[in-house]
Amino acid sequence: MASAPTLAIIGGGQLARMMAQPAIALGLPLRLLAEAEGVSAAQVIPDQLVGDYRDLGTLRTATSDCAVVTFDHEHVPTEHLAALAADGVAVRPGPDALVYAQDKGLMRERLGELGAPCPRNAVVATPDEVEAFGLPCVLKITRGGYDGRGVWVVRSVADVAEPFAAAEAAGHGDGAVRVLAEELVDFRRELSAIVARSPSGQAAAYPVVQTTQRDGICHEVIAPAPDLAPELGAQAQALALRIAGELGVTGILAVELFETVDEQGRPALLVNELAMRPHNTGHWTQDGAETSQFENHLRAVMDLPLGAPTPRAPWTVMVNILGGSAGGDVGSLYDGLPHALARDPRLRVHLYGKDLRPGRKVGHVNVYGDDLDDLLERARHAAAWFAGDLGDESE
Ligand code: ADP
Repeated sequence: MASAPTLAIIGGGQLARMMAQPAIALGLPLRLLAEAEGVSAAQVIPDQLVGDYRDLGTLRTATSDCAVVTFDHEHVPTEHLAALAADGVAVRPGPDALVYAQDKGLMRERLGELGAPCPRNAVVATPDEVEAFGLPCVLKITRGGYDGRGVWVVRSVADVAEPFAAAEAAGHGDGAVRVLAEELVDFRRELSAIVARSPSGQAAAYPVVQTTQRDGICHEVIAPAPDLAPELGAQAQALALRIAGELGVTGILAVELFETVDEQGRPALLVNELAMRPHNTGHWTQDGAETSQFENHLRAVMDLPLGAPTPRAPWTVMVNILGGSAGGDVGSLYDGLPHALARDPRLRVHLYGKDLRPGRKVGHVNVYGDDLDDLLERARHAAAWFAGDLGDESE
């Protein structure tokens, strides 16, 4: 019988799968609530239940005998989290914090109160209000979006119908999902500041990274962000630590940022959004940092001392493997291993056990070292190779 406390994870995606690795090392038993049989994390966490995370009874069964519950995604209804907390399960991050990662409208309101720099924004209820806000702008549904689904750049009133219909559909017509308008930020690049925070208040900040999205999906990360002004990097880390402390976040907090230029031509930061779980922009830490974000998430939610977020090398590059238009199954990813591993013995490969559907995140590669251009070439080649985007080319 296991004597260590069991950690329940809600959601069977790749983030839960990657939490399993440090859980093995730390001797921490995991229990998984998976949305379907055989999903990414269900392949590697034997103590599992398949069920609906929107159902409180299922959540109670999944967390019974568990000391702590944490998440692979932020979609568990906030009121269910409050009910679990009332039952005596340590919900980490707790509902009072997680709600700001669940609802972009509440997140903007709270960040405004904290004085965190944000794009100009307003919740809008009608197309007229969007026009009054000003076009072009970005419209987002406040709940339920991910990977750019739920985000629209709108340039004319004709474009606003889709976001309003999406909000209506996502909220099942009860108005729980609203539409948030934001100024269309002309950013220089996107950055991400990741911190871990434990219930006792210990915190660790990873170096700020540069992230490139394609079609709203994180594609490439360079750690640390090249040519980032040291004051701006320190400002981003301090901001993330302050948000984590003020909101009472436990576990990983990722603060997605835009780097912009202020009226005086100086670099400045705006917060795009918050995630309270291991984040795609932190996958580089698995190989490029002394303690990965997944391990620090587990340590934080279990209130264990945090590990060093220190980089192992001057540079780490992460490139996501996205399913290409050709499609394919898990086997075709496995078939990519001989070439990728033989070409680059220092390549670190992370595959999620998912079929290669177009645009779907199915894995990522990490490389770390001294020569950024070399790392970029190697990581991009490997990711394209796995995705089947290199055709018959073998070099
Ligand atoms: P998701 O929750 O789906 O990841 P985000 O709010 O992070 O959605 O938006 C996805 C991407 O859309 C961002 O990474 C960024 O590239 C772009 N984006 C979001 N908000 C804005 C904005 N206000 N101005 C310009 N681009 C934006």
